[in-house]
Amino acid sequence: PEDRVFNFAAGPATLPANVLKKAQAELYNWRGSGMSVMEMSHRGKEFLSIIQKAEADLRSLLNIPEDYAVLFLQGGGTTQFAMIPLNLCKPDDPVDYVVTGSWGDKAFKEAQKFCKPKVIWSGKSEKYTKISPYESLEQSPDAKYLHICANETIHGVEFKDYPTPKNGILVADMSSNFCSKPVDVSKFGLIYAGAQKNVGPSGVTIVIIKKDLIGNAQEITPVMLDYKIQAENNSLYNTPPCFGIYMCGLVFEDLLAQGGLTEVQKKNKKKAELIYKAIDESNGFYRCPVEKSVRSLMNVPFTLEKSDLEAEFIKEAAKEKMVQLKGHRSVGGMRASIYNAMPLAGVEKLVAFMKDFQARHA
Ligand code: PMP
Repeated sequence: PEDRVFNFAAGPATLPANVLKKAQAELYNWRGSGMSVMEMSHRGKEFLSIIQKAEADLRSLLNIPEDYAVLFLQGGGTTQFAMIPLNLCKPDDPVDYVVTGSWGDKAFKEAQKFCKPKVIWSGKSEKYTKISPYESLEQSPDAKYLHICANETIHGVEFKDYPTPKNGILVADMSSNFCSKPVDVSKFGLIYAGAQKNVGPSGVTIVIIKKDLIGNAQEITPVMLDYKIQAENNSLYNTPPCFGIYMCGLVFEDLLAQGGLTEVQKKNKKKAELIYKAIDESNGFYRCPVEKSVRSLMNVPFTLEKSDLEAEFIKEAAKEKMVQLKGHRSVGGMRASIYNAMPLAGVEKLVAFMKDFQARHA
């Protein structure tokens, strides 16, 4: 109702209203169990039914092949930056990173502790506004994997299709575009995503990994960071983030009810086009630095030509119940994150506001 705002935060981010209401209705007494999901044993039949349904629904959403495991872990995307090299490499193994923004850069830096990563392409000198053509990528001959960040949350740069590594497997950080569109999982060895942008609350990290990659962790690997332990125990080696997994399950149900990811992608394209159009047709009043072919459908960074008006823009928008539009502290300007759960009405309201603000300040 009126007391909800349109929340353009990059994550934790807005969740679907119907999902929140369902969780609220079930909070006190989950389906006659006499307790909330937060109070259940993670080994009891009620919670097992929740995690199994969440996995089954995610599998149907993304068409995940049988030879891939789905894990619900903790530690965020950031823990995966270490877990991936620890499990897929020996200390002297070469691996390749394509760095299209700050998150890919962080992943690369963490991997330096556990293997021999190399940045084979970086967009840094062009302020992370582009992605290299794949044909010109020179991969290391014995690289175990090629790591990409499918959508750079801060810079708003998104892969629209994916490179096929000449050797090794493709690994992708999909934290900020997970379940925003169909993905051919079989092209990847490993996909990972923190839940808190598109599919749930923070505290859950989803890993989709080809089963034959499991079981090669370096000896120093802590149990919690070993995909084999996690997979053998169906993500229940220790106490998992039960309530978060339950919330992700509700979101997956909702995405299926919307017709699946093809339908979801259509809605996301429509929303993103509205904002980019408003920017591109503003005669330079608003600017988006990202090359058109790789503009993110999820995170739209933009600046004002008159940059001294940016604080005013953010303040006025907040007054009209459109919040969290400030760009990341490292790049400034504005950023509208428009994940799956941002309704079209929120984007239409933002675009109307942008036009009105321009009319008043041009
Ligand atoms: N990767 C990407 C693309 C992200 O946007 C983020 C968080 N904003 C992370 C990784 C780090 O995730 P977490 O905070 O879950 O560790």
